[in-house]
Amino acid sequence: MTDQPAIRVRGLRKSYGSQVAVEDLDLDVARGECFALLGPNGAGKTTTVEILEGYRPRSGGEVSVLGVDPAKPNRDWRARMGIVLQGTGEFETVTVREIVSHFARYYPAPRDPEEVIAAVGLTGKATARAAALSGGQRRRLDVALGIVGRPELLFLDEPTTGFDPEARQEFWELIRGLSAEGTTILLTTHYLYEAEALANRVGVIAKGRMLEVATPASLGGRAEAATLVGWDGPSGREILSTDTPTAQVVKLSEQFGGEIPGLTVARPTLEDTYLEMISKAEVTA
Ligand code: ATP
Repeated sequence: MTDQPAIRVRGLRKSYGSQVAVEDLDLDVARGECFALLGPNGAGKTTTVEILEGYRPRSGGEVSVLGVDPAKPNRDWRARMGIVLQGTGEFETVTVREIVSHFARYYPAPRDPEEVIAAVGLTGKATARAAALSGGQRRRLDVALGIVGRPELLFLDEPTTGFDPEARQEFWELIRGLSAEGTTILLTTHYLYEAEALANRVGVIAKGRMLEVATPASLGGRAEAATLVGWDGPSGREILSTDTPTAQVVKLSEQFGGEIPGLTVARPTLEDTYLEMISKAEVTA
């Protein structure tokens, strides 16, 4: 990571007519970081990402992506970025190998198309036409096209929608590998566990505003949140919220003379914390 962030946004604003989609948004993504943007439908994630990619004009604020203002994009700058869009349907009659090889030619230092096809798990489908791929395989092809140019910065917009659990795990490994090589990644996802699995930091957007930026472990005070201890008592399920879970478990164990029936000890999940943040934002909006 160098000192200059890969992405720097200050006071970003975007309106569509009278509708404000993004308001006074700040964002810093360090070089080599994997950052996840979270937020409900219509929060302004895609608008923000498309402004960063240079595909949407902004209404106000300052934006720098790899040192360039995306409102003034140029070819060299584009070649340094990889974009995985929400599914493209243009290449139905061409094979996977042909499409990936074709895209590789746009870039000055592409990855080997065969390696990319293998990395996204499509080797067995290299000679299949795009039209013959399943939804999840199609998405893998989108990812292949996003990474074949060896991007410094990779935008992933809901990349694993439609993946089966095994494909998702494989995809995560692929993304972790790119991260380890130093690729900066900006991810949007509705899967909180995906953000937790991949992101160094997450930013939660609601109604066009950034509510909080934090590590997945510390978002919304999660690291300090009380632990929930649960067990099956004589009159049914009991749940206790406590800052001293170990002491509670010891006490319960003494009460039960050993094993505690149905014992669970849980911290709030990222999803619990996120949902609480979003519902508070809706109440105060
Ligand atoms: P999702 O999770 O559903 O993809 P999002 O967070 O990506 O949502 P955006 O697509 O950025 O949200 O939309 C933010 C707001 O801007 C929404 O209210 C949406 O209706 C509005 N919007 C987005 N694109 C346009 C457009 N081209 N014209 C008018 N309004 C738009």
